[in-house]
Amino acid sequence: MKKRCLVTGGAGFIGSHLIEQLLSDSNNDVWTIDDFSTGSKDNISHLLNNPKLHFHQGSILNESLLKELIDRCEVIYHLAAAVGVKYVMDNLIESMKINIEGTENVLEMASRDKKKVLITSSSEIYGKNENYPFKEESDRILGSTTKLRWSYSSSKAIDEFLALAYHKEKGLPIVITRLFNVAGPRQTGAYGMVIPRFVNQALKGEPITVYGDGSSTRSFIHVTDVVRNLISMMESKNTIGEIFNLGNPEAVTISNLAYAVKKLTESKSDIKYIPYTQIYDDSFEDLRYRVPDISKISKAVGFKPTKSLEDILKDVIKYYKNKEKCG
Ligand code: UDP
Repeated sequence: MKKRCLVTGGAGFIGSHLIEQLLSDSNNDVWTIDDFSTGSKDNISHLLNNPKLHFHQGSILNESLLKELIDRCEVIYHLAAAVGVKYVMDNLIESMKINIEGTENVLEMASRDKKKVLITSSSEIYGKNENYPFKEESDRILGSTTKLRWSYSSSKAIDEFLALAYHKEKGLPIVITRLFNVAGPRQTGAYGMVIPRFVNQALKGEPITVYGDGSSTRSFIHVTDVVRNLISMMESKNTIGEIFNLGNPEAVTISNLAYAVKKLTESKSDIKYIPYTQIYDDSFEDLRYRVPDISKISKAVGFKPTKSLEDILKDVIKYYKNKEKCG
């Protein structure tokens, strides 16, 4: 059946892969809106000639443009958001505005004709809870508001509350997914993300910068595993009004990640440990653990990660080597 989809934030790292996947089904027409704040035209330049892609440059804070696009579509994948710890710490007001006001705009406009909205939330929601793996109903444990990092977690929590409220009070079909450290080709290191940063440092022979003592762990999931499941969550009726973790439970310490990147790139780079206070100001707190429990999403849509950390690293290395070659 023909479907008209809107992807907000379609020129971003995840958005561009989602558009690609949606366009691979010839029944889909895809509209997208992106202001290039953290996304880039390069991410979708290979798709712009496709007559089934309708690209609009603009912000989700532009209500008339957003309304026009929502009116044209049947379902909405809402990915436009401030992303990356570094970006958020450097752009605090803008990040809260886009994450809270932007999401409210999407929900309000979608609710007029009850169009299904997929909200992308984050594993940051769980804060510094150390009782992992996290289940969707696990507690959120956050630091003081003077630790500005928590503004991101809180803005995503407001998005979730808003979506649940629109579902409860206005009957809007929504589904929320909490993404756990998505990685893969096209992700940039400019906003702090560790895998593209380490890969670029290793390829350039520069020191690989591990913050703190490197014992924090993260679980990385390949972007192609993510986008396939975003579509399954949109298509399934079982997901309405629900929240799902989406990640790969396999965890790695950041120190071991640095060694793996060094090995796979055959780099001579040193691994350099840098105290957090040299990177961020005193208002920063790192999260030590982040491991998803994925039993709920596995049951609902048959989710299972298909790619390992090594697959992710190899794909990212290939992407950046290619980029270097093409200048
Ligand atoms: N990190 C690091 N070196 C870098 C960038 C990040 O050691 O150059 C660490 C960061 O402190 C965190 C982990 O890598 O412990 C993941 O960071 P990222 O910003 O990718 O994701 P998040 O903190 O949001 O999980």
